[in-house]
Parts: sequence; structure tokens; C-alpha cells
Amino acid sequence: MTIQILPPQLANQIAAGEVVERPASVIKELVENSLDAGATRVDIEIEKGGSKLIKIHDNGSGIPKDELALALSRHATSKLSTLDDLDAILSFGFRGEALASISSVSRLTLTSRTEEQSEAWQAYAEGSDMAVKVIPAAHPVGSTVEAVDLFFNTPARRRFLKSDKTEFTHIDEWLKRIALVRSEIHFTLKNNGKTVRNYRPAKTSDQYLQRLAQISGKKFAQQAIEINCEHDDLKLSGYIQSPYFESPASDTQYFYVNGRLVRDRLVNHAVRQAFAEHVTGAQASYVLMLDLDPHQVDVNVHPAKHEVRFHQSRYIHDYILQVLQSALAQVGQALPAQETH
Ligand code: ADP
Ligand code: MG
Repeated sequence: MTIQILPPQLANQIAAGEVVERPASVIKELVENSLDAGATRVDIEIEKGGSKLIKIHDNGSGIPKDELALALSRHATSKLSTLDDLDAILSFGFRGEALASISSVSRLTLTSRTEEQSEAWQAYAEGSDMAVKVIPAAHPVGSTVEAVDLFFNTPARRRFLKSDKTEFTHIDEWLKRIALVRSEIHFTLKNNGKTVRNYRPAKTSDQYLQRLAQISGKKFAQQAIEINCEHDDLKLSGYIQSPYFESPASDTQYFYVNGRLVRDRLVNHAVRQAFAEHVTGAQASYVLMLDLDPHQVDVNVHPAKHEVRFHQSRYIHDYILQVLQSALAQVGQALPAQETH
């Protein structure tokens, strides 16, 4: 074989292997784009577990007509311009790969309008060179991305999709995670024509507790202990379910660093240790947000972005442990004895 540059569609399909695993990962990428664009409302619509249709509508900034084609190209991003930017990344996206990847493995249209434009435009890529067509459309300020027939042209991938119900569950689970940290955003989810989730904007702690009840159950919300502690450049906030009750703990265990859900051994250890010291055998349920200087943490470890690397890991560990220890100690003392069992 002679050496050849891969046609764009093929190159994008290969790249899609990393970011587009299943409908839930498509939704993750698209909704994160909406949030990066400053949307306050995001409406998600799916059919057949997302394999037939994924549609994301937002009221964000929109994309100017002359940038629509770029938005669909690989390595095109408005969020990063130098390698240094990577050290302090706060937006979700930055690789400039999602739209190009999704577009290469589905029938994707991107419709958008900015505040400055009086009309909307729709873009889609065609053929193996993924040439972008732009046509007039009707749309309010914001964007809609529609991905139809996911993996229709990559049958091997399509075979890996599970039942519609399983794919729905993955989507629903991902939406819970984002809805708990981006509580100011109104999210809706429509499944096969029926609205199944409606998370109204939660701007007060009462409203937040309502959202928490919707997502993690009434018990967690009723027994929630608020965490809110700032120390130097670290802030830990959120809720933990009081372990001083016999009722079952919720299975919610979400920890966010600068707005991203992370799965981190160090963090888990600190949380578990804090709970273990107060109530033996108690299962920790929590929604916690750690905010710190983005220079103090690397998020660029993996495309799925679940891992992070803290520069001062011991310090972070001890901080989390101490904040939770003291919150649990306070509540434990305030409780009358009979409520502890
Ligand atoms: P990335 O998010 O890594 O930059 P994407 O392929 O996901 O890459 O998106 C490419 C670009 O398209 C983004 O940088 C952004 O400028 C624009 N874009 C994508 N989705 C939206 C949206 N919903 N609203 C506004 N701009 C968007
Ligand atoms: Mg993106």
C-alpha cells in the first residue's frame, strides 16, 4: 500500500472512536457545548435510546453563519488557542473534535442563530470529504444540533449499542450528574415524544433541594447537610446525606472539580474516611463541588475527562477530610439521641 492522507470522513470516524461511544456520549458532548455557549436552557430529545434521534436545543450564544462550517471541522475550536490555555481550562470542550466526529458517524445538522443575525442558518457535512453546506433556516437565537441514525455508516459500532432502555438509562444518568452541578440551568429530556425529565432552574438552596429530591430521592434531600466552606483558594460546597439515620443511603456519590464530575481515588478516600469516623458502616451519599484555581489541577488527562491530577494532592485530601469531619461532628452533636437510630 502507498502512503495516503486519510479522507476527512474516515479520519473523523476514527477519531470518533475516542469520544463517541454511545448515545450518552454524544449527548454529553453536545450539552457541554451548549453550556460552554452560555445557554440557560437545554432541551434534549431522543428516540429509540438515541440511536434514531438525538436533538439538543439551546438558547446559548449561537454560531455566526461564517463559522458554521468551521464548527463542523476537526480541530476547530473557539475555546483554546495556545498550549498554555490548557493549563487553566474551564470550558468543557477544547479539543474541537466532537461535532466533526459525531457528524462523521450520523446524519448531523447544526442550526444556529446569533443575536446579531436576523436569520438562522443550517449546516451539514456531506460525502467522504465532508464538504459543508449552509442553507437558510428558521431558529431563535441559540443552536440546535440534530444527530439522526447514529452509527448508520459504521455498522460495527452500531452493533455495540445496547437496548433502547439501557441507552436511555445511560443518558438519564449522565443528565442527573450534570443537572446536580449546573443547577441554574433548565434541562428537559424528552424520550420517544414524551417529556420524562424536567429540571427547573434552581437558584436558591430550597430549589436546589427540590432538584436533589427529584434526582437522588426525598430521603437525601430531607436529610441533607449543607457543606459550604472556603479556605484560601479552595472552596468545598454541596450536600451530604446525614449518616445519622437508619434509612437507606441514596446511591448518589458525585464529586465535581471545577464543575466536572471526577472519579478520583484520593477524593473517595477522604470522603469515606470522614464518614467512617462518625458512623461505622455508614455509606456516604454526597454531591460535592470542589472549586480551586484551575492551575492547581490537570484535567487534560483523558478525553473522557473523568480523571484529574491535583498538584497538591495531600493538601486537597486533608482539606476535604477536615471540612466533612467538622460538618459531621456538628450535626452529630446537635442531634437528639433517639434520632441517631
Ligand atoms: P470544542 O467544544 O472542543 O471546541 P466541538 O467540535 O464540540 O469542539 O465544537 C466546535 C466549536 O463549535 C466550539 O468551539 C464552538 O465554538 C462551536 N459550538 C459547538 N456547539 C455550539 C453551541 N451549542 N453553541 C454555540 N457554539 C457551539
Ligand atoms: Mg465540544
